[in-house]
Amino acid sequence: MKRRRGWRAMAMAVAMGALMCMLAACGQPGTPAPVVTGAPALVSNDPHECVHAHGPGREVLQLPAPEGGWSGHPQAVVVLNALSGEVDIRHGQRDRCGTLADARTLDSRFRAGVGTVLVPRQGDTAPIEIEYDANPLPLWRPIVQLGEPTPVQRADIVRFAIRVASLAVVLTLVMSALLSFIATRERAFLTYAATVSVFAAWLALLSGMWAWPRPWLPIAGFAVEAMVGLAVALVGMTTLALVRQSWLRRRLPQVERGVRWAARALVVAGLSTPLLPPGVLAAMSVATELGFYLLALLFTGVAATAMIQRHGGGASLLAGVLPFLAVAALETFAPATLALWKVEAFMLSGGWLALTCSMVLTLRLGVLRRQRDEMTRLAQTDPLTGLPNRRAALTRLEHSIAAARADGAPLTVAFLDLDHFKRINDLYGHECGDRVLQHVANALRGAFRSADHVARMGGEEFLVILPGADVEHARLRVDTLRAMLLNTAVALDQPGMQVTLSAGVSALRDDDAGVDALLRRADAAMYAAKHAGRDRTALDDELPALAQ
Ligand code: GH3
Ligand code: MG
Ligand code: MG
Repeated sequence: MKRRRGWRAMAMAVAMGALMCMLAACGQPGTPAPVVTGAPALVSNDPHECVHAHGPGREVLQLPAPEGGWSGHPQAVVVLNALSGEVDIRHGQRDRCGTLADARTLDSRFRAGVGTVLVPRQGDTAPIEIEYDANPLPLWRPIVQLGEPTPVQRADIVRFAIRVASLAVVLTLVMSALLSFIATRERAFLTYAATVSVFAAWLALLSGMWAWPRPWLPIAGFAVEAMVGLAVALVGMTTLALVRQSWLRRRLPQVERGVRWAARALVVAGLSTPLLPPGVLAAMSVATELGFYLLALLFTGVAATAMIQRHGGGASLLAGVLPFLAVAALETFAPATLALWKVEAFMLSGGWLALTCSMVLTLRLGVLRRQRDEMTRLAQTDPLTGLPNRRAALTRLEHSIAAARADGAPLTVAFLDLDHFKRINDLYGHECGDRVLQHVANALRGAFRSADHVARMGGEEFLVILPGADVEHARLRVDTLRAMLLNTAVALDQPGMQVTLSAGVSALRDDDAGVDALLRRADAAMYAAKHAGRDRTALDDELPALAQ
């Protein structure tokens, strides 16, 4: 209570503060002056100085002038996917260079690649020359775009927007999984967050976003190695994630065990990439990508099997891997077409797969939570009568005592025990005894208020907790119940059967330490009722000797 009041006071203080700030802002006379930022420019242009100290393996591409020479119009040139080293774009005296490893070296008109705008003189026939490092990863070939500046720039913006948006979605999934982990403590969310973080880092490297607006991943000089290493680790982690979300986990647990070890081995292999020579790195990168396509094919089969054999989860798995299957098909049958938008295709299909996995995870945990709730309910319910059992009753009584103490309200309990129940079993059979217990449970539900709590404490003993009621009220209710039991013989079609009970009623006292003292008094009162001849209600305050 005190803590809640503290929060309320703090919220009030914050609200008052905000209100006063708003009033102070409105009270300023005239329109506020604009905010001016920045400083006067001292140089007209600040192009990046070309390094021109390249290692071996540089390649030169010539873009020839059209027939009759250049038109004299501006020509935009952009080089995408130059994953390592510096790119030079030259024509005549003009030489523009930059590297995707640091966005500060790029022409600010282009974001997704190294680009510039050249204006070759009309009739000039000299080609535009592009020099770049030999492609380190065979399946990620560089792309050169040439054309009128406006459409080339627009395409560049679209590309950049897709890259930023995909990365933002993937990072949001990581954050959301971490929050879910904090809320539920389910380790599956943590594993998912780790896998998707590795994927986000790989996407950042692949798209050059890691160097925007300046390099923010500490991998200077190792971007390509890190890219291959993360991809290798991702194959393992993704396979494990997909196996876990498919029926394979349940039907073939040994597959999951094997994949878990394979995933660990692949993570270790991924960490070793900085030590590998370029040839091995290139081969590893090709193997990884093909492995990923194979994985998409394999899990399409797993999803189809799930759908045919009705294992469940097939549709979501299929939806998740289908875009990658399309990418794999394009890589096989139209690699040049795919190459133009390959980075974006990977970002979108990977983001989609991460999204579907997140959905499956949330749904599965929802089912698990429902199962857990059901188990908790069963653990607290008596199967014969459907009433709360002894464990649930004791917990409820503890809460009721705490609430009664906090509100200063009375609390009464009634302990009920059926009379000569053993005899009923003996005379009419155990099954009939069970039906009597069910009948009594129904009568109990009807005789007490909805605010009262009824429970079966075991055998033929019941407890009723009556918050806010005094002993007289409780006695009245118990007597109503006893009157209701008079019709048991008729209701169960057992002529001559008599079902009665003895009840002990006790109220909470200020000096009661907890549930034990209260229950002990109610129990003692019930035994007093038995000794007095059964079929009656006794109040503990009428038994001074028992009250100690
Ligand atoms: P008293 O009036 O002194 O309470 O006599 P009683 O026969 O009711 O008490 P006792 O404790 O001797 O016997 C309780 C009987 O309740 C014994 C047991 O067989 C029966 N019983 C306990 N649980 C169940 C049950 O779930 N179903 C049935 N049919 N009988 C039960
Ligand atoms: Mg008993
Ligand atoms: Mg009994």
